[in-house]
Amino acid sequence: MFFLLSLSSTSAAGAAIAASNFISLSKKTLSLHYLSLIKTARKPYSCSQFSTTMSINLNSHAFAGNPIRLNTPKSSDPFSPTSAFQTLKTLLLSHTHEPSSPDFKVLPFRKGRPLAGSVCDASGSGGKPSWHLGWLSLGECRAFLENSEVNLNEDSLVYLGFTAEDDVVYWAIDVSEATGLVSEFGARQFCFVELRTLMVATDWIDAKAMGELAVAGHARALLEWHTSSRFCGYCGAKTVPMDAGRRKSCSNELCKRRVYPRVDPVVIMLVIDKENDRALLSRQSRFVPRMWSCLAGFIEPGESLEEAVRRETWEEAGIEVGEVVYHSSQPWPVGPSGIPCQLMVGFFAYAKSLEINVDKEELEDAKWHSREDVKKALPFAEYKKAQRTAADRVDQICKGVEKGQNLSADFSVESGELASMFIPGPFAIAHHLISSWANQVVVNGAETHSF
Ligand SMILES: [Zn+2]
Repeated sequence: MFFLLSLSSTSAAGAAIAASNFISLSKKTLSLHYLSLIKTARKPYSCSQFSTTMSINLNSHAFAGNPIRLNTPKSSDPFSPTSAFQTLKTLLLSHTHEPSSPDFKVLPFRKGRPLAGSVCDASGSGGKPSWHLGWLSLGECRAFLENSEVNLNEDSLVYLGFTAEDDVVYWAIDVSEATGLVSEFGARQFCFVELRTLMVATDWIDAKAMGELAVAGHARALLEWHTSSRFCGYCGAKTVPMDAGRRKSCSNELCKRRVYPRVDPVVIMLVIDKENDRALLSRQSRFVPRMWSCLAGFIEPGESLEEAVRRETWEEAGIEVGEVVYHSSQPWPVGPSGIPCQLMVGFFAYAKSLEINVDKEELEDAKWHSREDVKKALPFAEYKKAQRTAADRVDQICKGVEKGQNLSADFSVESGELASMFIPGPFAIAHHLISSWANQVVVNGAETHSF
């Protein structure tokens, strides 16, 4: 059993926003998101009547909607992993600096952190800084690695995807061994930044930034898996990358087992008391003060998703669950270390019993909360402020002003008079499970939800 966010106490994200400002921001967001809501609405969560309460509606969850891995092309296509890998080999062998078709862009990672930069775009985001990934050309990558301990070869690059319109194939490379690169990149105002920090710093209405976050999440998950699967689990021999780094194979001729990237499914559920119009929220002692969230847990072998929802809810809160309804899912490449990528599968779980019996080894507390109380725990202005604070910190990290970036990986909301508790930010599926229930519209006795 674990919770979606592993957070520790940290300094407040900012002072409380006046209630009037909160309302005006909320209305603006409603109109901004109205179109995307209509486009993405789907049964059974389509929203036939628009709720007057604030909710943040996304085209996809953070880390989903990766724009460069829509479909894997057939091997004859120049953008396919096989063809791109051949082109890469040729380029590396010939040491050419001539432009190639397709062109290559490489994203360096160090200890799970992608290279990132930050710009202030006065026209685009009101002068606020926004981060971007530090893509290098193959030539730049070669130049950076020339005097380092890392060899640039076809086995060190991992295929991420392509954009046909730009004629570009994207790769990731792990440069954790090359310590000197930190200062070299730093001189150019690029820095290796925690993915969790970038996640909090991402403006969720900025589709391009959300796309970059998804690319970085995919790359981090793949590289983490490569690091943790260096040896065959059957015979102990070394594994070697195959298919442009998208799978691996045992190097032992007698074994030759194939190894595929690891994904760990996790159920996350909002337990609902339909009769009394309440939802069960819980907190763990390591959460920041006043933060409450959904129950969640790993799926056990031989178990269906619905069974996992019922078992976890019973084990953690002593509540019996009847109907289980799927909501949406989210890749989560920023979970516990040693787990390259979780898939958070979100559900509404309808309670059959209401008496709470908290497992104190797993949870600090679990309580039923009314819909009105849950709505108050979604302080939009504070989420926005936390995002901007994180974006400012990434900007400072990249410009060498701020050190100790681990601190900024934390997400904290200082909601003051606005809320006595709060829900995780819009980067987490827990936020959308909870807010879509809180903002659901009842039409002729039937519930509909916005995503
Ligand atoms: Zn083997």
